[in-house]
Amino acid sequence: MRSRSGIVFLLISLVIPSFLSAQERYDELRSRMVEEQLVERGITDDRVLGAMSKIERHLFIPAAFRCRAYEDYPVSIEEGQTISQPYIVALMTELLRLKPGMKVLEIGTGSGYQAAVLAEIVEEVYTIELIESLVVCSDSLFDLLGYDNIHTRHGDGYMGWEEHAPYDAIIVTCAPSDIPEPLTRQLKEGGRMVIPVGDTIIQDLVLLRKRMGKLRRTKIAPVMFVPMKSSDGKRY
Ligand code: SAH
Repeated sequence: MRSRSGIVFLLISLVIPSFLSAQERYDELRSRMVEEQLVERGITDDRVLGAMSKIERHLFIPAAFRCRAYEDYPVSIEEGQTISQPYIVALMTELLRLKPGMKVLEIGTGSGYQAAVLAEIVEEVYTIELIESLVVCSDSLFDLLGYDNIHTRHGDGYMGWEEHAPYDAIIVTCAPSDIPEPLTRQLKEGGRMVIPVGDTIIQDLVLLRKRMGKLRRTKIAPVMFVPMKSSDGKRY
């Protein structure tokens, strides 16, 4: 008969190699994602490329869809919401021209992946999510991964987060039909905001720059985001 320690050893030796190979496989998929989806399409900001090379995107995705974590598409998360395609995450982050020491506001925490990308680059990230179960999940993941510079809040992000304003940059990952005025007010002079705008399935990704109190607006690309909603479920 095998001793108990012999069985434990056998189990460990079976589990560890298969765990390592899954980890290595994810690492390889991630470096391919960065090279083929980001670098080859023109993303050049080293801070963005570094963050997306480092963050284990599959940890932010429910088990059923995890195998698709590094593909060139948006992926379903809980509650009928989606995590954006990696290229769109990279493009929006690059457009903000982030630097260490900055303070950023995100509307639409979702899985928490975009917030983690921001948190790798800047000093403080404030992120608001309408659906409570998503806040609970992302919050515990941030704790587990040691992101103590991400501050979450359950609520309607249309109004922004006045208490910590003004922000160097604002990123909105759900689409209102018009740009929310409270967000433009909470943007610092010289600050940048990226936001999908439109009330149809396809919206315009818009970059706003605040100069001498005025907003300069540039259309970047057509995108598809879930609508921004109020607490009673109505579209903004
Ligand atoms: N940035 C996310 C993707 C978010 S999907 C990620 O990296 O995974 C868009 C999210 O916006 C959804 O989770 C949705 O619940 C949320 N949302 C919609 N309207 C909102 C509102 N008014 N305030 C805050 N979040 C909102």
